[in-house]
Amino acid sequence: MKRVVVIGAGAAGTMAAIFSASAGAETLLLERTRDGGRKILISGGGRCNVLPMVVDASRFVTDSSPNVLRKMLRSWPLDEQVAFFERDLGIPLVDEPESSKRFPASHRARDVRDGLLAHAVAKGATLLMNSVVTDFAPIDGGWRVDREGGLPLDADTVIVATGGLSVPNTGSDGLGLRILDRLGHTMHPTYAALTPLTADEPSLAALSGVSLPVTLTARAGPRSATATGGFLFTHRGYSGPAVLDVSHVAVRSRAETATDARLTARWTTLGEREWEVALRPHGVRTVTGALRAALPDRLASVLLEMAAVDPARILSELRRDERLRLIEILTRGPLPWSGDEGYRKAEVTGGGVSLAEVDPRTMESRRHPGLYLCGEVLDAFGPIGGYNFLWAWATGRAAGRGAAREGE
Ligand SMILES: Cc1cc2nc3c(=O)[nH]c(=O)nc-3n(C[C@H](O)[C@H](O)[C@H](O)COP(=O)(O)OP(=O)(O)OC[C@H]3O[C@@H](n4cnc5c(N)ncnc54)[C@H](O)[C@@H]3O)c2cc1C
Repeated sequence: MKRVVVIGAGAAGTMAAIFSASAGAETLLLERTRDGGRKILISGGGRCNVLPMVVDASRFVTDSSPNVLRKMLRSWPLDEQVAFFERDLGIPLVDEPESSKRFPASHRARDVRDGLLAHAVAKGATLLMNSVVTDFAPIDGGWRVDREGGLPLDADTVIVATGGLSVPNTGSDGLGLRILDRLGHTMHPTYAALTPLTADEPSLAALSGVSLPVTLTARAGPRSATATGGFLFTHRGYSGPAVLDVSHVAVRSRAETATDARLTARWTTLGEREWEVALRPHGVRTVTGALRAALPDRLASVLLEMAAVDPARILSELRRDERLRLIEILTRGPLPWSGDEGYRKAEVTGGGVSLAEVDPRTMESRRHPGLYLCGEVLDAFGPIGGYNFLWAWATGRAAGRGAAREGE
């Protein structure tokens, strides 16, 4: 019987163990924390956004080939993943159409984490919690896995599912990435992604607590990202899906270039022409009245101040230059930012092992036979909305199947 060691009982590793054990391999799942799957537990605000309702593969971010990424995703189509959760795990999912997300019907992330681990055991995998892997290396045609305070383990194949660097207290400290680098894999520099941004602009800090849907764009040299979704002013800066989805462009501009990314916001669904109409003279309506019809009051006041327009100005008296300035601010207003919350708050890690280093069908390393990679150690992440679990489930399953069958 083939002996497979899976390192990391997070989203990808637990799925890999399920499919490795289902394919008949003797499967050992090693996890450093007491219980595993801690990111699943805290995901989606404790509700776990298991999957998106629809997948747009072009929204994934990678420095590797997008075609290879698509191949990996296609290996387990969305409808089959949904069926797996509902039929095999017995976890019914519900849609949230306004956000295009899927959640467990119980709205309890714990059901997903516990259901996956229980299924791995039911399929025959052995879980070893509180087991910190310190190294893994090829030896005599197989693999040796070293653990803290335990004897080394022998394996025919090893699956690395140790995740990235984000939210370290969930168990991810980047050890897997460091060893994969040492084993000669091409690595793309890692960076915090889906992380809130900070700002020290007092007028905007006063808006803390205000939230609204916006369209944000971040641009830095050849890189850009645009996202439409929720935006939240916090006491430290900005958060919400739209901010998280463009944050990687800001983070990378800081790390890689001398020029910070430029962030701009379209604060409403109205474009230039619609604002031209909305700002036309209308009885004794003031410019504040026109803005408040489309924006939270406090934000309307701040935007008028930024545009240097008197809030009491009656629309019929609004000068052309004022109108143009205001429309500019409303449709592509600059959003000052000073930094980011880094890995401490990042939902994922960007960068990692180049996708070119693995066979997209089996997730086997092209550098080392018998070594399989899945989840966040790979150079890909998706937007908010269940895309990152989709990636973990698809690559985890493929790695589990590949590792169990390799050399058969
Ligand atoms: C706050 C937050 C909310 C999120 N919400 C969502 C969401 O709703 N939907 C979504 O799609 N994505 C969400 N994500 C992203 C998602 O959680 C990750 O993309 C996903 O968990 C990555 O899976 P993974 O298995 O690769 O890594 P992880 O889930 O991080 O698992 C890695 C595992 O490996 C273990 N490990 C690491 N090193 C060792 C070692 N040396 N020895 C033994 N074990 C080790 C860790 O303890 C951990 O259990 C969220 C992330 C965060 C931080």
